[in-house]
Amino acid sequence: MADKRDYYEVLEVGKTASQDEIKKAYKKLAKKYHPDMNPGDKAAEQKFKEVNEAYAVLSDPEKRDKYDRFGHDAFDPSSFAGNGGFGGGFGGFADFDLGDLFGSFFGGGSSRGGSRSSRTRGDDLSYRLTVDFEEAAFGCKKTIEFAHTEQCDHCHGVGAENPSDAETCPQCGGRGTVTVMRNIGFGSMQSTQTCPRCNGKGRIIKNPCGVCKGKGVLRKQKKLEVSIPAGIDNGQQIQLKGQGNAGENGGPAGNLYVNINVRPHKIFERDGTLVYVDMPITFADAALGAKISVPTIEGGEAEFSIPEGTQSGTVFSLRGKGIPFINNPQVRGDMRVTVNVEIPKGLNAKQKDLLRQFAAATDDKNYTKKKGFFRK
Ligand SMILES: [Zn+2]
Ligand SMILES: [Zn+2]
Repeated sequence: MADKRDYYEVLEVGKTASQDEIKKAYKKLAKKYHPDMNPGDKAAEQKFKEVNEAYAVLSDPEKRDKYDRFGHDAFDPSSFAGNGGFGGGFGGFADFDLGDLFGSFFGGGSSRGGSRSSRTRGDDLSYRLTVDFEEAAFGCKKTIEFAHTEQCDHCHGVGAENPSDAETCPQCGGRGTVTVMRNIGFGSMQSTQTCPRCNGKGRIIKNPCGVCKGKGVLRKQKKLEVSIPAGIDNGQQIQLKGQGNAGENGGPAGNLYVNINVRPHKIFERDGTLVYVDMPITFADAALGAKISVPTIEGGEAEFSIPEGTQSGTVFSLRGKGIPFINNPQVRGDMRVTVNVEIPKGLNAKQKDLLRQFAAATDDKNYTKKKGFFRK
């Protein structure tokens, strides 16, 4: 809980929201992130706790006033700390219409006792990887290094120094959850909450593992070779299953998501599988027609013909000289070449003389655009 989010932000309401609006927002979010709707989803569980905590403060005018004036400092952090701290984990609902909120989860108040497992999937991690334009186009292998948690080798994730140091939690009998009865005004309702004694682990550890200090996991640097497929684009993501943080109590590890960032190229631009390039050509080539060489993204050259009288700004499409399709790398997009006539500079006396002779020899017929311009 190092950096707590603003309570208003958590509930997605404005600072001036009415009590009614806060209550409505809370109900919506509590349903969305409820652990029974998101089994095994750590992130949702965290959100659920956050939402409950925010509601407990903002729904109480006195606490809300304090929060508005002093922010999170207004409250002793230990009162919210840890898993069970806030009114006992998932049970910590603020006081209103529980039946209304829970009707949809518990099928009208019937028990779901014991269905939740304390096996928890590890957190997903993300990694930002920048690759060159060509690497993205043709694929590559990259070695990345990142920190994640792995199961502790010494205790095999149990968190106890010796197997006999871990005993089944006497309160929940190892299930990690306890069933509680709640009075909801017109009757009572059973609900399941995380066991406050063992925090859902189902075990009490007498002598914690010396290597991981009882956590069952260790933070480690990991090196991994990642295959970047040809055709990958900016903003795309590669999923590496099970390379995220270790799970708890034998739960599966999370995933690592590698987010790709493609470095821009000096001369090529890309839009999906299309490659764009601006190509300077000479006045003579444009006027007479010519074979033009253009650089390609694989580092070679491609030739194409421009016809007589090619105008500046004309676009030529070179089939299959673009970026491979990521799902079918044998097929490539096109390259679009925009030709721009470069007007010669620094002419010597002889060249100027020739150009004057040339100008004298041309007339309106050679310049259809110029000829028509004054008539418009
Ligand atoms: Zn250990
Ligand atoms: Zn327990």
